[in-house]
Amino acid sequence: MTYQTANISIEKSESTKINSVDFSKLDFGKVFTDHMFVCDFENGEWQEPKIMPYQAMTFEPSARVFHYGQAVFEGMKAYKDHEGKVFLFRPKQNFERINKSAERLSMPAFPENYFFEGLEELLKLDNDWIKPGLGNSLYIRPFVIATEPAISASPASMYRFMIICSPAQSYYNSPVRVLVAEHYSRSANGGVGAAKAAGNYAAQFYPTSLAQKEGFHQIIWTDADTHTYLEEAGTMNVFFRVNDTLITAPVSDRILDGITRKSIIQLAEDLGIKCDVRPVKVEEIKKAAKDGSLKEVFGAGTAAVISEISAFQHKEELFEISGAEDSYAKLFKQTLLNIQYNVSEDKHGWRRAV
Ligand code: PMP
Repeated sequence: MTYQTANISIEKSESTKINSVDFSKLDFGKVFTDHMFVCDFENGEWQEPKIMPYQAMTFEPSARVFHYGQAVFEGMKAYKDHEGKVFLFRPKQNFERINKSAERLSMPAFPENYFFEGLEELLKLDNDWIKPGLGNSLYIRPFVIATEPAISASPASMYRFMIICSPAQSYYNSPVRVLVAEHYSRSANGGVGAAKAAGNYAAQFYPTSLAQKEGFHQIIWTDADTHTYLEEAGTMNVFFRVNDTLITAPVSDRILDGITRKSIIQLAEDLGIKCDVRPVKVEEIKKAAKDGSLKEVFGAGTAAVISEISAFQHKEELFEISGAEDSYAKLFKQTLLNIQYNVSEDKHGWRRAV
């Protein structure tokens, strides 16, 4: 099915909530901008997209999403430079990933022109919500849910694609302590780990809450089969620096193909830093921590860009990571922020002006 230029109907909000928001004290994901983008899938095709005031919606209790979790989402950000210009970072990757996630959950692909025209129109309307300054951004949440009112366990014939936006400051700024998973797992071979499926996140809450009771912020997930390999940290991909070499796990159907991760791998190449993409054994990282060659561990994801990990625990053994003077985590974070906020050259064409 080809979709011509999106003919978006726009209903503007009569007033703005922006003056009631304290942008210096934002609680992540709790405040939403004035508008949202909505597009329904019915009769085998995506209908006319709309932008309307952000508002509650009604669904029948039988809507399939409530019963079988047929739902996927994305997380991306818009950044504003000091001249007021707005940029997205590698948004095509998010677009492609939501459709990959949708395919895995037997949901219809969303057309590329609807995605970008809708998003850009929405960002123009809610432009004042994007504050300049490193760390300030507008978090963008595209998502798709199965809306068909029918509770047989099969794919829906009706869906709603939406985009909502929430102003954000960077979070997870202080180093985090993580627990290496020994029992629970977030994904399995042939499963949905590589999709941003809503249920993947719900399933992490309980084990993460147990880890939090023990004083950890997050879990580093290991392979479900053997719990031998380190795979992801919470909602981030994870990197280890042993001596001067970075190591990160290859993406698979258990691991999300993170955009921050793939950007870091490219930046490492640009900066002449060796980055090995290969399975990472828990034991090898414990050994490196013991002999002092483990210099850094950090998570990488859109929300926090890079989140330094200061300690990890595995089988009751706790390892503190002192960090390096010439921190790769800080170097990559600054390099990425400079690209995202239009401070530095963008030689890979990762910025997209809105
Ligand atoms: N892994 C998981 C499970 C995630 O949810 C995320 C956040 N999207 C990431 C990794 C990081 O991906 P990205 O860099 O594209 O935000």
